[in-house]
Amino acid sequence: MAKVHQFDALVIGAGGAGLMAALYATKGGANVAVISKLYPTRSHTGTAQGGIGAALGNLEEDRPLWHAYDTVKGGDYLADQNAAMVLASEAVEAVIELEHMGLPFDRTDDGKISQRRFGGHTSNFGEKPVRRACHAADRTGHMILQTLYQQCIKHNVTFFDEFQVVDTIMNQGACVGVVALQMGTGEMHVFHSKATLFATGGWGRVWSVTSNAHSLTGDGAAAVYRRGVPLQDLEFYQFHPTGIYKMGILITEGVRGEGGVLINGRGERFMEKYAPRIKDLASRDVVSRAIYLELREGNGIKGKDYVYLDVTPNTVNKYLAEAGETRRITESDVEKKLPDILDFCRVYLGVDPVKQPMPIQPTAHYAMGGIPTNIDGQVVTDANWTVLPGMYAAGEVACVSCHGANRLGTNSLVDLVVFGRRGGKHMAEYVKHADFIPLPANPAGEVEAEMSRIRNSSGKTKPYELRQAMQKTMMEKVGVFREAKGIEAAIEEVREMKMRYQNDLVIDDKGSKWNTDLLEAWELGCLLDLAEITAISALNRKESRGAHSREDFKERDDVNWQVHTLIKNCAPAPYAKGIYDPEVNVDKKVDMSLAAEDEKFVPKVRAY
Ligand SMILES: Cc1cc2nc3c(=O)[nH]c(=O)nc-3n(C[C@H](O)[C@H](O)[C@H](O)COP(=O)(O)OP(=O)(O)OC[C@H]3O[C@@H](n4cnc5c(N)ncnc54)[C@H](O)[C@@H]3O)c2cc1C
Repeated sequence: MAKVHQFDALVIGAGGAGLMAALYATKGGANVAVISKLYPTRSHTGTAQGGIGAALGNLEEDRPLWHAYDTVKGGDYLADQNAAMVLASEAVEAVIELEHMGLPFDRTDDGKISQRRFGGHTSNFGEKPVRRACHAADRTGHMILQTLYQQCIKHNVTFFDEFQVVDTIMNQGACVGVVALQMGTGEMHVFHSKATLFATGGWGRVWSVTSNAHSLTGDGAAAVYRRGVPLQDLEFYQFHPTGIYKMGILITEGVRGEGGVLINGRGERFMEKYAPRIKDLASRDVVSRAIYLELREGNGIKGKDYVYLDVTPNTVNKYLAEAGETRRITESDVEKKLPDILDFCRVYLGVDPVKQPMPIQPTAHYAMGGIPTNIDGQVVTDANWTVLPGMYAAGEVACVSCHGANRLGTNSLVDLVVFGRRGGKHMAEYVKHADFIPLPANPAGEVEAEMSRIRNSSGKTKPYELRQAMQKTMMEKVGVFREAKGIEAAIEEVREMKMRYQNDLVIDDKGSKWNTDLLEAWELGCLLDLAEITAISALNRKESRGAHSREDFKERDDVNWQVHTLIKNCAPAPYAKGIYDPEVNVDKKVDMSLAAEDEKFVPKVRAY
């Protein structure tokens, strides 16, 4: 029998979003537990390099309204504009709060938080790039994570580290907790709660080249999807333009913020062609597509499938002079501002970025879609914004849709702290008045049966074979560019893999303690579900917008497609065998409240 625990509020995930939510729920008086499969400070938030955006205006004039405008435009007009406005206006206070908690931001000469440029962030509604990204060298996420973890410890938040949540418990139309497997012992635990917030991060591991950690397998999204919660806008998955060639490790946009430029095999600064005004600092979807187009035309370096990112002072200073800027950079500036990037390149590539350009290619990076929520982190299940009692989500796994079809750099860290905080606050109030809804009978039964099926399976297919095949299919057919024929083939291939997963699997480790073989196989099940429904969502949307670029529907279509996709599981049970077509709906309208007040927010042309 699984051991049962009871808490007012549960937070699943200890990245930036989870920790902020836990901190605020605790401060609000709730009895809170955080459950995390990783030790908290190993969460992916800790790898975020470039910065957190906030219109502090420390180096030049800036306003939250301009930040909201960039967010909506960068999101190719699919963002819910009220959410983008909340993001931009609460960012300012949230960054100052982090500073007061002790986060060691870089400083200007007069002691203010230093800020740098980032793709898509402009002043005065697109006029020119603005310094908005607050940073702590290129380790901003690391500092946020450490700061928030210390605060949680200070406020006595309870942590269940290295517990992997494997199922959501629903009863009487509400979320009443989760089932988790204790990794060290293999024991199942049932967590009973009044409110549960999912902050489990993204699922970059669906693709073969990714910036995401091995742990980013979409567990939370899959666990709620299997229990009938729809997922929103999955077709919008961002490829970051600058991953280290073949490895996918991220090179922050901060490199281009400091003046770095992209160069093709002919030695051209090709972004001048694709975004004449904002060039290398165009939004990520635009730059990733430009790189693919260059590669397709045979303009890769030495004819291969990569281009250069060049931040050597010679090159940068040449272009700064051409642009009429007086600023110049030196080798020691690069060393000081981008220490981790230099380390990565020196260690993994044997390339020294202060002297040589870095070989890069687009890398799967960020899920704009996820579990649909309102601006208080409450999960909503349909076009009428019906709230699912007791369930919350925040951070990358959530889709409050402040990022729309494409997220701007630095806006995820903002999203974590702004909406993590809102979710935490709301939970604290909610649990004051809500009662515990009883647990259903045998809440861990179904997932226990699935775990023993995987453990005792005696087929021929190893999980890694399926994972590699899925990643290849998705990279080739549901990547930066897509078209119907390729997506249809991807759906068929992934479904075939799902059948092999159900009927022909085998794992080596049959034990219970630290059985990572078992958990990786379970995670593969989550990835396969997400791959399938990402492809189905992509096939359904017959237009190009943001990160979703259809070669057979090249134009953005605001008349028919300014709507969110909701995809819902139709299988009779979470682990039902067989393939079931999900239900896809597109009747959830995009909130256009700012467009109604200010014509600058009206979608007139494609972004850039
Ligand atoms: C290399 C890299 C650089 C980035 N740089 C930037 C940047 O400069 N600026 C920016 O704004 N954004 C950046 N991003 C994006 C941003 O960092 C992420 O979107 C964000 O950190 C996600 O935070 P999160 O709190 O949602 O989840 P994460 O930080 O990913 O944490 C997920 C948590 O969920 C837990 N978890 C997952 N599954 C389970 C389970 N089954 N059971 C229990 N726990 C589970 C994990 O243990 C972990 O604690 C970057 C991303 C990457 C990959």
